[in-house]
Amino acid sequence: MPRPISARIHSAALAANLERARRAAPDARVWAVVKADAYGHGIERVFDAFRAADGFALLDLAEAERVRALGWRGPILLLEGVFEARDLELCSRLSLWHAVHCDEQIDMLAAHKTQQPQRVFLKLNSGMNRLGFTPARYRSAWARLNALTQVEEISHMTHFSDADGPRGIAAQWQAFCTATQDLPGERSVCNSAAILRHAHDQGVRGDWVRAGIALYGSAPDFPEHSAAGWELAPTMTLSTRLLAVQHLQAGDCVGYGSRFRADGPLRIGVAACGYADGYPRHADTGTPVLVAGVRTRLVGRVSMDMVTVDLEPVFAAGAAPGFGTEVTLWGRAEGGAVLPIDEVAQAAGTVGYELMCALARRVPVQMD
Ligand SMILES: *Cc1c(COP(=O)(O)O)cnc(C)c1O
Repeated sequence: MPRPISARIHSAALAANLERARRAAPDARVWAVVKADAYGHGIERVFDAFRAADGFALLDLAEAERVRALGWRGPILLLEGVFEARDLELCSRLSLWHAVHCDEQIDMLAAHKTQQPQRVFLKLNSGMNRLGFTPARYRSAWARLNALTQVEEISHMTHFSDADGPRGIAAQWQAFCTATQDLPGERSVCNSAAILRHAHDQGVRGDWVRAGIALYGSAPDFPEHSAAGWELAPTMTLSTRLLAVQHLQAGDCVGYGSRFRADGPLRIGVAACGYADGYPRHADTGTPVLVAGVRTRLVGRVSMDMVTVDLEPVFAAGAAPGFGTEVTLWGRAEGGAVLPIDEVAQAAGTVGYELMCALARRVPVQMD
């Protein structure tokens, strides 16, 4: 028998979250962002739920091929554009739209021999300073693209660094408006945080929004808002079972480095999940976990294949945890109790994005 750990992907929640993103950006078309293998969920597993999207956005050409292989004939956008000249042949063959963020990509287009003119999203660096043309160089880049017979249509995009926080989007939005003023073409600026927090402004939501983390049921601005507060449902559950129960006395320690010491009698459960499953090793004593649907805490250090949890709150709730009892690391327990991935991420000093993306290959995945 395999280890009892498994992940479940909730199709209905994926579809509901897509609807939620749409409600926040009415009239805009929605890119379902499925980079990083759909934030660790698996492109093939999310595809049906996201068929209602207007397009799929991703980074990797192999992932674009997988979306086409699933039968998707609508738009696919390469968010970082092409990485080398021959990628343009695949763009033509698979009808991929692609971001253009640097001169080298324009050079490749200019040298590209194609039957099929390309649809591109010119990217403005509005202040994040990762990818894109600076405001000073944006319009000349546009003019250069516009003169190419290889280019059919030019849209405009930028990416916000602070849509989730107090800095907000005002300065970057202003830079985008100035740089793109009077230029024809569709516009796309919003990620999930901007969709939820700023897309009530019709200008900001533009023609296309790019919904990522919200589709996967995590709040981009946790803890200011929770996923439930945004009406987003968890799309991934990581669950396992107890392998053993230990009865500690005052002074007894748990796990590597003896980082946790009991100050009185304490019952501890040992669960079959560790950092080799994608559970964060930085999760420390106090990280929330559900046992038999009852909220309790991790104690001691996360090891490769096991974690240890405090069973006292579970007994106190009237359950009798033992070998085989269900343990929910994040997501939805069998009885319906929810442990938001964002709370686990916060306790481990990271974000829900990283936990989803890190789900390990050895964990079997089911769908419901
Ligand atoms: C990943 C990504 C998104 C989606 O971001 P979320 O915060 O997950 O919504 C949007 N736009 C670009 C360019 C991205 O790379």
